[in-house]
Amino acid sequence: MLTRYHAAITRKALVERFSPSALDAIVAANLKQDNLLFGQIGHDEYHFDNNAFDRGFAHIKSQRGLVHYALENEDVASALTAFGKLIHAAQDFYAHSNYVDLWLAQYDAHTPPTPPEIDPLIEEFINSPALHSGKLYYPLEIFSYIPILKWFVTPLLPKDSHSNMNLDSPTRGVRFAYAFEAAVKKTMVEFDQTVAELSTSQSVLFTGLSS
Ligand SMILES: [Zn+2]
Repeated sequence: MLTRYHAAITRKALVERFSPSALDAIVAANLKQDNLLFGQIGHDEYHFDNNAFDRGFAHIKSQRGLVHYALENEDVASALTAFGKLIHAAQDFYAHSNYVDLWLAQYDAHTPPTPPEIDPLIEEFINSPALHSGKLYYPLEIFSYIPILKWFVTPLLPKDSHSNMNLDSPTRGVRFAYAFEAAVKKTMVEFDQTVAELSTSQSVLFTGLSS
């Protein structure tokens, strides 16, 4: 997803679950994952690129462990950073894989459900052999990150490339809205799952909210 949509998804999902300053810290950590130098190249697991599903889910699990470890040590800043990283991957799953296509394929193409109706948690699709995510065909793929060049490069890349598969922005068509809504719902699920294992005092520390 483009960073502005990661920010919008995160705020929509979590605005009532964190204090404003905690939410700002989470958004900042989330967006940092898209830094070309430190977050993109060599880190397929941060974005579920290149079919890195096992590594992506392991990354989410390890960041959740880091949230808990940090809070045991009352290190709120590290907990918020780990959670921002965790939800970046959780959100990209829907923009970089064909989950939305698999979900929509259950319905009549002429009368699909609306985007807010998407269920982001259907195990049958998450574990389906048909699930795949966009491959990064470097070096050509690099040019697709440059808006003007994107239009020239994308048709030259294979169908299973990140350029041709991503649902990173509304320019990718109507399926973007399904990826967006799925990511909002999944972000809430990740929050619930993370907080479920915390004590009341750790929750207060983490969210910056007393109730
Ligand atoms: Zn990403």
